[in-house]
Amino acid sequence: PTTPAQTRSTELEQQLRHTPERFRVLTGDRPTGALHLGHYFGTLHNRVRLQDLGAEVFVLVADYQVLTDRDVAERLTEYVDGLLLDHLATGIDPARTTVFNHSAVPALNQLLLPFLSLVSVAELGRNPTVKDEIAHSRQSSVSGLMYTYPVHQAADILFCKGNLVPVGQDQLPHLEVTRTIARRFNERYGAVFPEPDALLSAAPLLLGTDGTKMSKSRANSIALSADEDETARLIKGARTDAERRITYDPEGRPGVSSLVLLAALCLDRDPHEVAEEIGNGGAAVLKRTVTEAVNTRMAPIRARRAEYAQDMAYVRSVLRAGNERANEIAERTLDEVRDAMGGLR
Ligand code: ATP
Ligand code: MG
Repeated sequence: PTTPAQTRSTELEQQLRHTPERFRVLTGDRPTGALHLGHYFGTLHNRVRLQDLGAEVFVLVADYQVLTDRDVAERLTEYVDGLLLDHLATGIDPARTTVFNHSAVPALNQLLLPFLSLVSVAELGRNPTVKDEIAHSRQSSVSGLMYTYPVHQAADILFCKGNLVPVGQDQLPHLEVTRTIARRFNERYGAVFPEPDALLSAAPLLLGTDGTKMSKSRANSIALSADEDETARLIKGARTDAERRITYDPEGRPGVSSLVLLAALCLDRDPHEVAEEIGNGGAAVLKRTVTEAVNTRMAPIRARRAEYAQDMAYVRSVLRAGNERANEIAERTLDEVRDAMGGLR
């Protein structure tokens, strides 16, 4: 079944092919662990493609957002370094794409304040992604940031007047919040912001080895940086079922189907065909197929990653330059916002 978000994404893809320069793209990740295959097929791959098509791309390292579901941000330097390496290794080019971190751009937090005034408490409370994250949260109580980070994200997107956000399925409710905020701001104070669109990829929700959303903080993921043996071990431990015949049936057999899908994505093939070929091979053949497919597809990325890791001074300079550029843009937007709001200073 085709959802409205998928239909819209198809339209946007056509526009992107004709007029890529009209698009300002923003996406990001929390530095909460190593980026995984869900990121790669869900968004990372798309970011590089959009950059290469000629759109202007911004990648946010959402460090403040780490605190939405935990008390302190642990191993921040390690995870931020990892995010930078993963992006460079997959083909993000710092000459064309701005990579920056949230905490280095104070204007983002200053935009949060007026934006908070544009949404109701009830709207924040019924966000389905926030509800899911509360269910998986490791905190005993839910902080105010958990409910307001989607508004934070609106500032992350709108500061650069981003109009296209390549994301996974879980981000659609958040993007609706951003659209609402842009619309209400423009209605109340005059036209300043675009209403950004979500761009869904072919794999908007890759499942992890336990059959729930692959997440870097759920111990169910296969990292881009994992080596071949680790990849084999993780896939070996993935949840499947006892039926010998392998089929692609995401609703009925989520465990088996997510492995079939992973192999198909790595091989650029149709998942039904991949399942057909494995036929009665059972989970053992399925897992062998997936492991080989992942390791082959990731080999060049992992090799480039190891090369960049030899020069961390360069890798970190990419973030510093990105922060400078993001600050300039954010200050300009903040001035516009204050003017529109009647000359706040
Ligand atoms: P955490 O568990 O710490 O929340 P995460 O794995 O959910 O980490 P995020 O940094 O929250 O990763 O998400 C970054 C981007 O990657 C978002 O656009 C999100 O939609 C996308 N993404 C994350 N997980 C998946 C997945 N399993 N399949 C497809 N896209 C995903
Ligand atoms: Mg997440």
